[in-house]
This record gives sequence, C-alpha cells and structure tokens, in this order.
Amino acid sequence: MRLTDDRYAAERSQFELALRMIRHEARTRTIRECTGLSDDRIRKLYATYFRDSGVSDVRRRRGKSPQQITRFVKNPAHQLQATTLVALFCAGLLLRVSEDNTVRCCWPRPDVEFGHRVCRAYEHYLLLHPEALLSFEWTWNLLKSISWNDELYLAGCRSCGARYVQDAYALDLKTCPACEIESHQRRRPGVRSFSSA
Ligand SMILES: [Zn+2]
Repeated sequence: MRLTDDRYAAERSQFELALRMIRHEARTRTIRECTGLSDDRIRKLYATYFRDSGVSDVRRRRGKSPQQITRFVKNPAHQLQATTLVALFCAGLLLRVSEDNTVRCCWPRPDVEFGHRVCRAYEHYLLLHPEALLSFEWTWNLLKSISWNDELYLAGCRSCGARYVQDAYALDLKTCPACEIESHQRRRPGVRSFSSA
C-alpha cells in the first residue's frame, strides 16, 4: 500500500510540474527533461487542461530552447533582469557563487524538484519585473549559460559593488546595469531609457 501511495505522490508531483511549466509556455523538451514524462503525455496534458478547456492564451512551444546569450546583455534593462534571475537562482539554491565570482551549479541533473525551483524563480522574477523581457525558456537557458562560466560571467560594479551578468567578449566598464540606468536617467531626465526594444 505504501509503495502505491509513494508512486501516486511522485506521479502527482510530475503532473503538477508539467502543468506549471506548460502555463509558463516551456517547451516540451524542457518539460520532459524535468518531469521524465513522455512527449505524448505532455501533449495530452496540454490538450486536456489548456487547448480543450478554453484556456487559449497558453501556447505550446516546440523545438529547442533559444541558445544565444546576447539576449541577456543586449542593453542594461536586459542585463538587469538577467541579473535578477541569477540572484533568484541563488536564493532557490540552484546556483552558488564563489568568492571569486565563479558560478557553480548545485543540481547534478534536472528533476522534478529542480523544475519546481526554476518555476519559483521565474514566478518571482515576473513579480519583480512586470515588464518581463525574458521568457521561461530564456530563463532556462540563462541558468545553463551562467553556470558554464564561459560566454557569460558575473562581474562586479565599481560604484556599488553589486554583481551583474556580463558578456565575456564585451568591454566591461565595471558598471552594473542599475548604476548605468540611473546615470542615464540623471543625464536625460524624463527620457525613459533602454526600452524593451
Ligand atoms: Zn552598481
């Protein structure tokens, strides 16, 4: 009986995560990686709970996750939001940052708990940035990219000491996006800097 209960609880947790991720328009492949459910079951969940139930504003995404890192560093607004996400990954114990700013992944491979933690980080990010520039799949990509310590890394701001997401191949002015946005606004008051374009 106990075994059946455990299996039921585990399956329920997989389904809950799949629904949570579908709601965030995660790709089937990403959902499969975390839940272990087959593409067919994910398709059926989407059809039952979203497509056929009248919830039409959730789209099903196919194919691979976006890969480029330029999205995270294209301007200070994007950089600031990517930095918020990295802070939330750390708060959710998905990542750890060493004293030398090296980023370490705390999870050996995606599983259900990992998926829920990524969802939680993404949901908090949406609360902090109502004009979100990064989708769930970009969030997923950022979590991977930053832990490779390759094209993206954490730099330190000369003025306020904060860490921020930076492009390894770009010139680093040692100014975090928050300080940059602030100085831009001081120079040109009234002009909304770095729009989401
Ligand atoms: Zn700063």
